[in-house]
Order: sequence, then C-alpha cells, then structure tokens
Amino acid sequence: MADVVSELRQQVGVETILDTASLSMRARNYWDSTPLEALALARPRTTEELSRILSVCHAHGQTVVAHGGLTGVCDGDRSTAGDVIVSLERMNSIEEIDVVGRTVTVQSGCRLQHLQQAVEQLGLFLPLDLGARGSCTLGGNVATNAGGLNVIRFGMTRGMVLGLEAVLPDGTVISSMNRLLKNNSGYDLKQLFIGSEGTLGIVTRVVLALKERLPSTNTALVTIDRAEHLATLLREMDRRLGGTVSSFEAMWGDYYREVTAPGGHHSPLGRQHSFYVIVEARGPDPVEDEHRFQAAVEAALQGGLIVDAVLPKSETERESIWKIRENFEALRRYEPLFLYDVGVPLRNMLEYVEGVRSDLQERWPNSRLFVLGHIGDGNLHFFVAPEVKGNNVNELHAASDEIVYRPLAHIGGTVSAEHGIGLEKKAWLSVSRSRAEIELMKTLKRALDPKCILNPGKVIEV
Ligand SMILES: Cc1cc2nc3c(=O)[nH]c(=O)nc-3n(C[C@H](O)[C@H](O)[C@H](O)COP(=O)(O)OP(=O)(O)OC[C@H]3O[C@@H](n4cnc5c(N)ncnc54)[C@H](O)[C@@H]3O)c2cc1C
Repeated sequence: MADVVSELRQQVGVETILDTASLSMRARNYWDSTPLEALALARPRTTEELSRILSVCHAHGQTVVAHGGLTGVCDGDRSTAGDVIVSLERMNSIEEIDVVGRTVTVQSGCRLQHLQQAVEQLGLFLPLDLGARGSCTLGGNVATNAGGLNVIRFGMTRGMVLGLEAVLPDGTVISSMNRLLKNNSGYDLKQLFIGSEGTLGIVTRVVLALKERLPSTNTALVTIDRAEHLATLLREMDRRLGGTVSSFEAMWGDYYREVTAPGGHHSPLGRQHSFYVIVEARGPDPVEDEHRFQAAVEAALQGGLIVDAVLPKSETERESIWKIRENFEALRRYEPLFLYDVGVPLRNMLEYVEGVRSDLQERWPNSRLFVLGHIGDGNLHFFVAPEVKGNNVNELHAASDEIVYRPLAHIGGTVSAEHGIGLEKKAWLSVSRSRAEIELMKTLKRALDPKCILNPGKVIEV
C-alpha cells in the first residue's frame, strides 16, 4: 500500500499528499476529537489533480473517502487506517456569481456561510441554511442532499443544484455544469451524485440557483401547550402569511428547558410550556410584512393557538432565539447520547413521539428524550440519553435504534430525513426502502464503482 502513496506523490506532488504522521493533529470530525485515521490524505487543487489521484487509487484497488467540512452526523466520513482521504479543502473558490442568470458556480470545498455572504453582497440569496453553515461545505451539502432551516419554503439542496461536476472512481470527469432552470436532455445525471454520500463520485464543482435577497425577515418564538395546536398553527401561519413562511422549527419542552437551564441560553419566555416554535417569514416589503406578521401572531394568541410570544426587536435578539434551536451543546453532558433524524407524516408525529418516549421509559426508566425538528417538513431530531451506567454503548445504541426506527415502517416514515445513511443507519435502510429499491442502488454502485473503492461499506453493502 505504501506504493500507492509514492505513486500519488509522483503524480500530484509531495505537498498534496499528507502521510499518516502529518494527520495526528487533525480531528476525526466535528463530533469526535480523536485523531484522524488514514493511509494518506490528498488535498487536490483542481479537478484534473483529483482525476489523477482517483486513477491511481483505482488501479491499485485503493479505498477512498471524501471529506468536506466533517460536520456529517452518520459516520459517512469515517475512514480507517487503510483508506486514502480526499479532502476538498483547497478547492474552495467561488468561480462566478451570475447576477443576471441568478446562478453561482462554486468549487465544492467552499464553506456554506462564505457562499451565503458572498451572494448576499450582490443582492441575491442562497436559500440553503443549516446550523453547521460555518464549517460544512457545498460538496458535503450536495453529497448529503442537506435540508436545514428553510426547506419548508425553498426545498432541499437537490432542488437548488442546476449542474455539477464529479470525478468517478476510475478518474473519469463527468462535467454536467448546466446553468439552465429547464434542461430535459436525457437522464438528469447530477441527481445520481446528490445525496449519494460520496459513494458514486467525488463532487468538485456545483452550479446553484439563487433567489433575490428578500429585505424583510420577521421572526417569532411562540409557546404552545396543546400538542394538536402545532399543526394548526403551521397551517394558520402559512395561510395568513401567503406562503412566505420560511422556517417552522419546533422544540419540545424538555429540550427547551435543558438548553435554557442556568448557564445555558437566555430564555425570553417562561420555561414551563409544552412546546416552543420559531416561526420565520421572509418577504419583499419590510413595513407591510412586519404588519402582516404581527397580525398573524396576534390572531394566533387571540384564537388560543399559542399561549405566549416574543418578537425580537434586533438582529442580536433574533440570533439569540435561533441559538436556542441551533446550539445544543448543553446536551453533551449526557453520555452516551444518540442523535436521530427521522421523517414522519405530520398527522402521525405526536403519537409516534409519545410511543417512542414510552418505549424508552419502559426500557430505561431514567432515560431522557429531547425532541426538536423542522416539523413543517415532517422532520424530527431526537437526542436519546439512556441514562444507565456501565452498559456497552453499542448495545445501548442498538436497543435505542430499535425503539426509534421499528415503528416507522407502519406509518410511512424514514430513518433519515436529511442527514443520510452513512454507516450508522445502513442496517435500517430497509425500513424506508423496498428490497427492489436497494437492489437498484446496488446495481448503480456496481456500475459506477465496480471495484467498490469509493466510501466502501457506506449506505449499502455491495
Ligand atoms: C450543528 C449542526 C447542525 C446541523 N444541521 C443540519 C441541518 O439542519 N440539516 C442537515 O441536512 N444537516 C445538518 N447537519 C449535518 C451536516 O452539517 C450536513 O450533513 C452537511 O451537509 C455535511 O457537510 P460537510 O461538508 O460537513 O460534509 P462531511 O461531513 O465532510 O461529509 C458528509 C458526507 O458527504 C461525503 N462528501 C463530503 N464532501 C464530498 C464531495 N465533495 N463529494 C462527494 N462526497 C462528499 C462524505 O464522504 C460523507 O459521506 C448539521 C450538523 C451540525 C454539526
């Protein structure tokens, strides 16, 4: 295997290929600070360099794992001591922002927040947004088909990608850099790579569709005490705000109390309520939009849908409300803690959550379940803390998975709404996908990666 490293260095230069010794200072990922394991880490500067790297790996049957910002949450980025990592960190430029055509062409190692800021300076708006914006990359967002905070109005990453370029496991470059909104000429090849979690090709460049920047953003944090009012409030706000609602983020009371406990986030409202929702709307007219938004919140209060509400008066206050939703560091004191990302039809959501809670309590009486989510998208995140000492963490995780995932099949749910499958949920893919679907995924994998060198063992077993 050392031959591979020498050959890679001959092909693209010594400073592009870091060896094992130089990796000891790099953390495994956002969640785990143990040192990164790999045979070598390649940092190509161009698509052409990456193509040469993959050709060498392909010839040697060398396994390869793509790395973006390492914020992924299902072990899709996990490497072993025998893998070559390809990090897109040096392919991070914004190549072109086309103000007239409202597109941006960007290399996949560019960080999301950097791109958001660059397009905003030109009066445009990239609707993709998630809590990891400061660290995650466009390549990772595309590879995981990231969702995030604006999906209810603007959709997922898949819907924003017009074109992309990817390098196949054998080094072939597929350049599909379409900039047109409509292009039905043959198979839509880019969709093969979007959401494939680095198993079919490494994404190098992306063309994204942009929107006009909307000058008004109105936000409210509201409280709800009756569970059935969650869905009604969503419909009411959507109806009154004429389709401008861009976020509808719910936090169950246990989660809210935990992250706003003394030493945590400031709570602008009483902490005794059953649910907390951040509603946000974006529109074209700051005066009119604010008026309409306040009226909608007022109507929800008058109608008894919500119990209390706070509307931030400054950007700082707005950010402090969003931190309650986005920054869950306080939960890290629970060990172990398992994160889930399930999708559930809205009409089954409350019953499903209570079923999971009761099954967890039956299994581990002291367990804690913290729930939050993009519920307008039918997407819930759970943090499960079994709160039992001295048990094998893998066994606890498996038992927790069973409780969370098993009921999903009956209600048409999914084991992953937006994070992907990676290694962590592979065993549960069949809850959300039929045997025929999984077979077709395997056929695609074998066709594009016959030697199975790219992110092997992730998503599906071939
Ligand atoms: C605080 C926080 C909040 C988050 N909130 C959300 C959220 O709201 N919605 C959401 O969807 N996710 C969320 N995530 C998860 C994560 O940020 C996303 O999955 C993100 O898209 C991963 O991007 P990344 O660059 O960090 O990818 P990585 O973690 O580096 O990689 C993720 C996967 O993509 C593959 N990959 C990376 N780059 C490429 C490439 N160029 N070509 C091919 N494959 C590649 C990797 O091999 C791996 O399988 C959150 C994470 C954190 C830490």
